[in-house]
Amino acid sequence: MIKPKSIKLCPKCGSANIGFDSGGSSPWDYCKECNFNNLREGQKGFISQFPEVKISQVKKFLEMIKTKNKKSNSNRDDKG
Ligand SMILES: [Zn+2]
Repeated sequence: MIKPKSIKLCPKCGSANIGFDSGGSSPWDYCKECNFNNLREGQKGFISQFPEVKISQVKKFLEMIKTKNKKSNSNRDDKG
């Protein structure tokens, strides 16, 4: 078995649990964890392919997402 040099990761939550939906004329990736990019869920900002991250860069990628999520969370102001 050859180890992959890069894996697809969800750009939103960093999960490697990526699904592949070929239901349309052009297939797309979606995240099974957070459902990001799932067209059937009516997602905005659709991207047809998730970024492939080099194994050596995965840690960095996940940290980047964490930072991103922190920022977007601080924008939320829904109390209760
Ligand atoms: Zn996700």
